[in-house]
Amino acid sequence: MCIFCKIIEGEIPSTTVYEDDKVKCILDLSQAGVGHTLVIPKKHFANVLEIDEDTFAYAMKIAKRIAGALVKTFNCDGVNILNNCGEAAGQTVFHLHIHVIPRFFNDTVDVKWKDNSDAFDPKKFEELKNQIVKNL
Ligand code: AMP
Ligand code: ZN
Repeated sequence: MCIFCKIIEGEIPSTTVYEDDKVKCILDLSQAGVGHTLVIPKKHFANVLEIDEDTFAYAMKIAKRIAGALVKTFNCDGVNILNNCGEAAGQTVFHLHIHVIPRFFNDTVDVKWKDNSDAFDPKKFEELKNQIVKNL
């Protein structure tokens, strides 16, 4: 059983901020920011590619609710709602979860990428779009 399945079963302790029949929301052990919460579907799915759309949509709905609660609670300036899918994307626990991270101006959380907009090429974009559309 994976670590989050064990948390859901209560075999490993966690601090639960919200729970219903479909999701469990716990404080992340490693707080990126105070109040950093994980929304974890109770059914095991490895990642966003494997989960069914309805369960993912429900987890996102709860993530939105958690985000609102964090803003209200900590008066933060913003919130990141994010999912890491695959090791290359930073996933370390292979049971799908959504991070909800309170953000403050000048905090130390880093989810930025460098600005590549000067390389924008309309022809290349058209090609990229056509490639993606084929697989939708
Ligand atoms: P990710 O890197 O997106 O897979 O995120 C996994 C997250 O799970 C990390 O932020 C960890 O700090 C968190 N984590 C791992 N073990 C536990 C645990 N026992 N309780 C709460 N959070 C955990
Ligand atoms: Zn699991």
